Amino acid sequence: MFFCAKICVGSDIMNLQQIELYAKENNVPIMEKEGIEFLTNFIKENNITNILEIGAAIGYSAIRMCLIDDKIKVTTIERDKERYDEAVKNIKSFNLEERINIIFGDALDIDVEGKFDLIFIDAAKSQSIKFFTKYEKNLDDNGFIITDNINFHGLTFSDKPAPTRNLRQMIRKIHNYLDWLNNNKDYITEYKNIGDGVTVSRKK
Ligand code: SAH
Ligand code: MG
Repeated sequence: MFFCAKICVGSDIMNLQQIELYAKENNVPIMEKEGIEFLTNFIKENNITNILEIGAAIGYSAIRMCLIDDKIKVTTIERDKERYDEAVKNIKSFNLEERINIIFGDALDIDVEGKFDLIFIDAAKSQSIKFFTKYEKNLDDNGFIITDNINFHGLTFSDKPAPTRNLRQMIRKIHNYLDWLNNNKDYITEYKNIGDGVTVSRKK
């Protein structure tokens, strides 16, 4: 079942299922069930209300996060025009325009104002260090940075080398990111083998 503590009604669930179907049919890599359940629970348990997301795609995770509680606000960035347009449409269909601020652009080119208690990195997997270092200035002192798709569909920790050169390069970058996080003096990072693998980083 979806986690919609207060305001989730039958039509919301149908609406979410339509977005999931669209994602499947159009190969949009939205968060998997287990991952989104972890994320929404984490947000609840830590009373998170102000979220910055890098990588909106079609707005699915932003909507799921907002449906947890009326207090929650999400700023999210997407650089693909078609996905951005679809996200805008989906956000409207949930009447969440007031609580989801979606920005069209490349997260590495734009600047976001304000502080957030969660930064959720779910964009180009080879650029995680860049997203982290660019946006950590927007993190509250008690905030968290969560990064998705650390497992990269099982390839990151596989014994066999990935089948293509591009994939092998991607995997190398994910390992680099993990090493970089583990050696980061300012943060403590926990890896969780949930969904497609996530890291949770918190300022020391
Ligand atoms: N968070 C979404 C899924 C995001 S998929 C969900 O779970 O519902 C990753 C998205 O990040 C893609 O749509 C891709 O276009 C976007 N993206 C990748 N690099 C980006 C960048 N540098 N700036 C903005 N968006 C980016
Ligand atoms: Mg993801």
